[in-house]
Amino acid sequence: MSEAKIYDVPAHYSAAGTRNSPEDYERRYAQSVQDPDAFWAEEGRIVDWIKPFTKVKDVSFNADDLHIRWFEDGQLNVSANCLDRHLAERGDKTAIIWEGDSPDQSRHITFRELHADVCRFANVLLRKGVKKGERVTIYMPMIPEAAVAMLACTRIGAVHSVVFGGFSPDSLAGRIEDCESTVVITADEGLRGGKSVPLKANVDNAIRTPGGAGVKTVIVVRRTGGSVNWDGSRDHWYHDLMAGESAEHQAEAMNAEDPLFILYTSGSTGKPKGVLHTTGGYLVYATSTFANIFDIREDDVYWCTADVGWVTGHSYLLYGPLSNGTTTLMFEGVPQYPDWGRIGKVVDKHQVSILYTAPTAIRAIMREGDAPTLESKRTSLRLLGSVGEPINPEAWEWYHRVVGDHRCPIVDTWWQTETGGILITPLPGATALKPGSATRPYFGVRPAILDNDGTLLEGVAEGNLVISDSWPGQMRTVYGDHQRFIDTYFKTFAGVYTTGDGAKRDADGYYWITGRVDDVLNVSGHRMGTAEVESALVSHDAVAESAVVGFPHDIKGQGIYAYVTLQAGVEPSDELRKALVAHVRREIGPIAAPDAIQWAPGLPKTRSGKIMRRILRKIAAYEFDGLGDTSTLADPSVVDNLINGRKAG
Ligand code: ATP
Ligand code: MG
Repeated sequence: MSEAKIYDVPAHYSAAGTRNSPEDYERRYAQSVQDPDAFWAEEGRIVDWIKPFTKVKDVSFNADDLHIRWFEDGQLNVSANCLDRHLAERGDKTAIIWEGDSPDQSRHITFRELHADVCRFANVLLRKGVKKGERVTIYMPMIPEAAVAMLACTRIGAVHSVVFGGFSPDSLAGRIEDCESTVVITADEGLRGGKSVPLKANVDNAIRTPGGAGVKTVIVVRRTGGSVNWDGSRDHWYHDLMAGESAEHQAEAMNAEDPLFILYTSGSTGKPKGVLHTTGGYLVYATSTFANIFDIREDDVYWCTADVGWVTGHSYLLYGPLSNGTTTLMFEGVPQYPDWGRIGKVVDKHQVSILYTAPTAIRAIMREGDAPTLESKRTSLRLLGSVGEPINPEAWEWYHRVVGDHRCPIVDTWWQTETGGILITPLPGATALKPGSATRPYFGVRPAILDNDGTLLEGVAEGNLVISDSWPGQMRTVYGDHQRFIDTYFKTFAGVYTTGDGAKRDADGYYWITGRVDDVLNVSGHRMGTAEVESALVSHDAVAESAVVGFPHDIKGQGIYAYVTLQAGVEPSDELRKALVAHVRREIGPIAAPDAIQWAPGLPKTRSGKIMRRILRKIAAYEFDGLGDTSTLADPSVVDNLINGRKAG
């Protein structure tokens, strides 16, 4: 892996203007871990404080005395940092470019306009009796009103819980119940890929279940004008409420450790956790990481394709960009509509300079070949980003060569809902890239690798990825279940934050995420991450995507079972199956050769596009009952299909 291809910092980055050169990174990183208080005291001032902090950090990772506090005596407001502080210099600058599902719909909203709407909606919420600390559920499509709703909550100190608009009424009700929210903000319908999504009807259905029974107020944005049922005592049109409201509102002074939002994790490994983030540390971390990792410049047009329902949509679609005064693009649609060239066309239309997306999207676009992407010029792009899963080197190379035209560095950013912001990542002006590696830690982040007994491994190593010290964006608790927070993250290994992911560190100190620890394969006593075997399969021309799990094997203990999705137009055959086994054997070695390959027209993914290997493990083991929580699956029919395939094979 250390012999992997290396991409140096391109000349247009190493020239003046980049935020961090290689020397800057080494110097600032060393300073940040030697004296975190001094580093974060300075970095903390990149946001505006109503009352400046005097204490920087008070943390213990000891499970018996767990506490995590940052900037605790300071006061600030997130919405004021995202809006008010830019009005003097950037009032007429575009804050949000909205690109509709249909290519002929888009809007530009300036910081001044967004500020006015957020103030109005803050007043609406107050008039509806929403109090500081109260939880508000947001179940919305990707429209600017979603940003208005989130920012207005932060403005008055209400705690938002954004639930992805693709979730079912039951999943929505579960999340409403878990955080006891009485107010839901939604839209009549969403629009994705030309199809409408019945959001208001889903809210009605959620409220009919016991979980949703506590909801007293529903505020509805009119998006499509489709017909909806109406309960006059509970439902209100957004535009009616906004019409009479004042565009002035004084942002509430929040304590740094006041709750900011709750967000449920994707549920790849089990029941989603209500991750709670607080105000000061989160905002400092989102603001700092966004500026440095995307090497932000004043005239950037930045596009993150994540939905606001995921943490990426919080930290790097909304809060990080707006806090830095950056123009952020919000896309309502999907990459394949009206055709697979859409991403490139949106880049050209709005002259996007930075594109941040997920490996699942990259693999899907790649599966269609280069032609759709090459219909666009993409000359405005300067930088690309990836997040959500390990990116296979093959997909990385394609993203670099075709989307970025060999010109744009790729920041492969590793982080979690729990971490609030990116922890391991290249910096574009500072880090030479290796495809498939998330490279080096961000400032102040201390990753370490432990073996299963908790012994710290130095130098070149592979094992459990943990973080040895706190960073400001760290989650503070699982909402309503602090014990689950302690048990999940601080009990496995003493004194560190356990990520649940595995990683390798190479001779250059680069980190390679090998997949989730729960998914690790153990073949004849050899432990192997899923990412490596999957990447070997994807590097074969015929393969678009793959997922690898262990299954019971008489001799080896565990065998390797591979689910393979072929490139568009490729037919499965026994020869191909043999060729793939031989290919993996050649790429990694005999130990990694799959014992079984099942053709998979689709893989079970969470609604955020992550492969759910725990379900695949059960299918491979012939355990078709008790697949666990499947409510976060994007397309449950994929599972039946694979079960049938398994029975037939
Ligand atoms: P749950 O915790 O409920 O099982 P989840 O882990 O999928 O869900 P997220 O917080 O959205 O929820 O995802 C974080 C995980 O995504 C990381 O722990 C890691 O496994 C994976 N991940 C994110 N970014 C990267 C990346 N750049 N490289 C490798 N893996 C990544
Ligand atoms: Mg997780």
